[in-house]
This record gives sequence, C-alpha cells and structure tokens, in this order.
Amino acid sequence: DGITVTELAEKLKKDTTDLIKKLMFSGVMANKNQALEDEAVELMCEEYGYEAEKEIEVEKTDLLQYIEDDNEAQLKERPPVVTIMGHVDHGKTTLLDSIRKTKVTDVEAGGITQHIGAYQIRNNDKKISFLDTPGHAAFTSMRSRGAQVTDIAILVVAADDGVMPQTVEAINHAKAAEVPIIVAVNKMDKEGANPDRVMQELTEYELVAEDWGGDTIFVPMSAIKGEGIDDLLEMILLVAEVEELKANANRRADGTVIEAELDKGRGPVASLLVQNGSLKVGDPIVVGHTFGRVRAMVNDLGKRINKAGPSTPVEITGLNDVPQAGDRFVVFEDEKKARQIGELRQQKQIEERRGSQSKVSLEDLFEQIKQGDIKDINLIVKADVQGSAEALAASLKKIDVEGVKVNIIHTGVGAIKESDIILASASNAIVIGFNVRPDNNAKKSAEKENVDVRLHRIIYKAIEEIEAAMQGMLDPEY
Ligand code: GDP
Repeated sequence: DGITVTELAEKLKKDTTDLIKKLMFSGVMANKNQALEDEAVELMCEEYGYEAEKEIEVEKTDLLQYIEDDNEAQLKERPPVVTIMGHVDHGKTTLLDSIRKTKVTDVEAGGITQHIGAYQIRNNDKKISFLDTPGHAAFTSMRSRGAQVTDIAILVVAADDGVMPQTVEAINHAKAAEVPIIVAVNKMDKEGANPDRVMQELTEYELVAEDWGGDTIFVPMSAIKGEGIDDLLEMILLVAEVEELKANANRRADGTVIEAELDKGRGPVASLLVQNGSLKVGDPIVVGHTFGRVRAMVNDLGKRINKAGPSTPVEITGLNDVPQAGDRFVVFEDEKKARQIGELRQQKQIEERRGSQSKVSLEDLFEQIKQGDIKDINLIVKADVQGSAEALAASLKKIDVEGVKVNIIHTGVGAIKESDIILASASNAIVIGFNVRPDNNAKKSAEKENVDVRLHRIIYKAIEEIEAAMQGMLDPEY
C-alpha cells in the first residue's frame, strides 16, 4: 500500500528513470509501478533534499491495526482481571477491601495503597488483578466503548437477601459480555443466611452449582470476617487456568483506560490496564484521542515503576489531554508516529461528534438485515410489572422472520434507566418500554448513544412493530 516509484518521482518532480537509478545505487531494485517501503521513500527524499512526511488517511486512525499479532510461541500465562458485581449492599466494596487488606500487605510491606481504579494481589505464586469500581455500570460503559477488560466476574449475592434486581442485571451484563461468573455467597455469618435459597434462585438464570449438576462455582463467604476469601481466590485462579489467559510481555504494550482525570499539579493522569505487552517509562503512546510519552508511572501501591507487564494496572502522566474510561491505548515505536496518529484521532473525534454514529434502529433494521449486517436482533424489555415483562419477552422471542433471531438480553421492572441504555449501546440493542418511560438520565443517554427506545401500552402493538420492522414494513409515521 506504499507509494509507487512513479508517484514518488512525480512528488519529487524528478524523472522516473532517474529515481530508479538512484534506488538501484542504494540497493533497491524497483520498476516504476512498484510500491516502495517507507525506508526507501525516506532515503530517496533525503537524497533529493526533501523531508519525507507520510500521508495518513482516515483509515489509519483505527488504533487496533497498530497492535502487532503475536505468534503462539511468544504467549505466556497472564493474571486474570476480575470485576465484582452484584446488588447494592450485598458486600462488593467490603469484599474488595477485604481481599486487598489480607493480600496486598504481605506482598510489599509498607506500601501505601493508592486508588488507581484497580489493584493486583498475589495468591501463593499467582497474581490476580481486580477492578476497583464495583458494579456493572463501569463494566458496561467500558464495553460500550469497545473495551473488554474483565476476564472473570464475581457475582456477590448476600445469603440473607438472595437474588435481587441488580443481581439479575449483573448476570445479564456478564452474559452479554460472555464473561464467566463465579458466585460469592456473602454474609454467611448473618443470622438468616440461606445459601440454598441463593443457589435455588440462581438456577433460574442458568447458574447451577456443581453439586446440583451444573458448572457454576459457588463460594460461601463472609467478606466482613475475611472468611472464604482464600477459597474465592483459588477458584478465580482455577477458572483463569481453564480460560487459558495469555499474553506476550516482550512487545509494545496495548490496553485500556480504567479511569482518568486532570490533576492540578501533574496534568492529565490516566489509570491504564496493560492487557498485552509491557508498558515502559518513555514509551510513545496514543490513548483514546490523546497522545504523549509515558513520563512517570506508578503502581497500585503508589510505587514508581519503570515497566509493567500484562494485566498490570498502572497510573501514568505525560498525555496531552484527558482520555476517557474505556478508551484503548497503544504504544508506538516512535514519538512522531504516535503524535501523527494521536492528532488524526483528535480531528476524527471532532468530526464524529458532529455527525453521529449509526446504531441499530427499527427504521433501518430491514436494510441492515437485507445487507446481512445483522443476524440477531438484541432487545431489552422494561415493563411496569414482572408479568408483562415476561409475557412480552416470551412473545418477542417467538417472532420468526427470515431466520433472523430475536435475543432478549435483559428484562426488568421499572423505568428505563441509564444502565439499560448503556447495556443497549454496548450490545447494539433496542430498548422496549411497556407502560414505563425512560427517566431523564436515560433520555439524555439514549440521545447521546443513539439508542432506539420504543414505548408501548399494548403488548401486541409492540410485537407488531418489531415484526414489521424486521420485514421492512414499518409504518413510516412511527
Ligand atoms: P456494596 O454496596 O455491595 O458495595 O456493599 P458494601 O460492601 O458497602 O456492604 C454493605 C453493608 O453490608 C455494609 O454495612 C457492610 O459492612 C455489610 N457487609 C458486607 N459484607 C458483609 C458480611 O460478610 N457479613 C455481614 N454481616 N455484613 C457484611
């Protein structure tokens, strides 16, 4: 895809034959239609007294193409990255604190823990990284930006409370992301703790304990007393082994932003999770729509480090602007290239903000189906009562048009919330509200994320609408 000899000659205002001769003297045998390597182009420009500046097209702004492929032999086991999810008050924060307290201090005594959005512990000889923001909102908003950082989800369910609405949401979010779930049955110390009930209730969501013939791991525990934590960590490592999580530490790093902010003294500060390769101080880097050089790097103990391998969370400075959580980062071989790509991405972002990205919507559903762009239609159903949500979901699932499948990725009771919109955005889904409306945040978020929200008061109308859209017979006045 490089520039050809003829094209280069034109740009340099030289004779093609002349250029071919010069190339030959430099050891490059090329005919006039041959594409040249960057090095040869640079050499020729130098010869003729020009400075080579490569043109970058918009396609070059896609960061992921700059990540080199690994060959299998270079891949080594890497630590799992874990997110803790579950209903409010079931003990997510307590569990995160408890794991950190019992495990971090015996790794590096005297370290002052620093909140950088994630931390890493060592259990026997193996490391595990935990994302520090519990809950599925952070998890899913990252995913909606195309980032998948979680390898394993811990679903915390309080044994005295059982499965609650956010438990179900968390399950659906983890399933949509195809992340394995380990159930932590928490608060076992409490009177009225009933782990069997938790297990029973979770069977409805295809989380069946091994004792009951399923393959989901359940760990009874008390986060507050620190009981069961070792078991949980062991199970995490077991699942990690099955998942065969691998990375290559001997290459330029790439990964995802966990959080970022503007610090008065230090400028833009970003917490990054290195997902592959090793990140080093001095590395030229593009982070989302920002760029720079890694000036300083600290780990979760606030310790300055020079190098961070796969699955390690670090905090860096040295960027020209503040990136967003969920943004990808990629290290480049030289600063000039990083700056070029970074600036282009910044431009592109500004343009993108003007026009909006296209998400799936009922209006163009048929078009997309016809073009083979979508084979599944993802729907989120919110209703005023559980009965209607289930009835509507069941009927929607039965719609069969030209072999296109309807997936219900989440059903729930109550107003349409921002978390529904974020899930819809991440999963390219349409939200259907039955006798409920979006709240203000959800409305704003739907607009921003371009999520199609459909409100209905009659079940068969909702079904008809989806069916019509799938057949390309949607009433234009909708
Ligand atoms: P989160 O909302 O899921 O992060 O829940 P928290 O970690 O904030 O815990 C909610 C409440 O439950 C707090 O008062 C905790 O002290 C309490 N809690 C958490 N884990 C346990 C436990 O294992 N046993 C008991 N008895 N209480 C717990």
